[in-house]
Amino acid sequence: MKQVIFWGTRGSLPTSITHANIRAKISSALLAANGRSFRKQAELDAFIEALPFAVHGTFGGNSSCVEIVTDGPEHFICDVGTGARPLGQSKIARYGVPNPQVYHLFISHLHWDHLMGIPFFTPIYIPGNRIIIHGCHSGLEEAFRRQMRAPNFPVDYTQAGADIEFDLMTPGKAHFISGLNVTPKLQKHPGDSYGYRFESIDKTVVYSTDSEHRLDDKEDLSGFAKFFHKADLVIFDAMYSLAEAASVKAEWGHSSNVVGVELCQAAAARRLALFHHEPSNDDNQLSHLLEETRRLEKLTRGERAPLEIISAYDGLTVTL
Ligand SMILES: [Zn+2]
Ligand SMILES: [Zn+2]
Repeated sequence: MKQVIFWGTRGSLPTSITHANIRAKISSALLAANGRSFRKQAELDAFIEALPFAVHGTFGGNSSCVEIVTDGPEHFICDVGTGARPLGQSKIARYGVPNPQVYHLFISHLHWDHLMGIPFFTPIYIPGNRIIIHGCHSGLEEAFRRQMRAPNFPVDYTQAGADIEFDLMTPGKAHFISGLNVTPKLQKHPGDSYGYRFESIDKTVVYSTDSEHRLDDKEDLSGFAKFFHKADLVIFDAMYSLAEAASVKAEWGHSSNVVGVELCQAAAARRLALFHHEPSNDDNQLSHLLEETRRLEKLTRGERAPLEIISAYDGLTVTL
């Protein structure tokens, strides 16, 4: 495995940036630039880069979709939220139409935010493409068919021209798929969800979203510490604060940044990516959450090796 590309990082519902958000960013940037002049584009680019992320960028609004780039020719994708639309477009731009590709889609669960990009994932309409949809829910195929059925969508699933197959995986068992060992794990979430551990010879990536953890459940914590063990990257559902996850939003099926740090430390993981961002959190709030999480990691590190913490945003590429 070489890279992980985040195409959609927002939780529960795609969320657009607003007019007010953009004005606030422009206002902050102009204020910071007050009195300066830029003679070359490179100077301007360097200035923009030095601005806080919440000013020069955005976490983005597409729902869950993450690509794992391997050394092989086949494509690995976790969930097909609305991030699957730009992902599909990038594949068509790169490979063109008369150049069949194989896509492996790993589905955490059947909630809409994780499936709703599939009708807009162009590769499914191209004859010759092979799409293998892996998951652990017995209703996997029906969920894909249902969302493209009238009156919900104008193009029926049967009109998708690619070869689409379904692969029902067994949780807890390693499956060898096109050069990778992939192990699904059952997670606590309404209607169940599954995390996936991807292993190549030298790298490990864990995709674990829509997963609630109870801090008083030692068996759960040790099970996940094992699942995340020494991962190069853990993509983790950090939708809520610990206070929310433990009180008003308990049983809603999500987790927090604090639990993410604790599990990754117990697992001796190398890097944690906060993921499945709460739609009501804007770029400032998400940046603040990242800073807080980094502080927490430092305070609780002890003798351990540092855990690198990032917050996923649409368009982020992580080199493993
Ligand atoms: Zn979700
Ligand atoms: Zn869900």
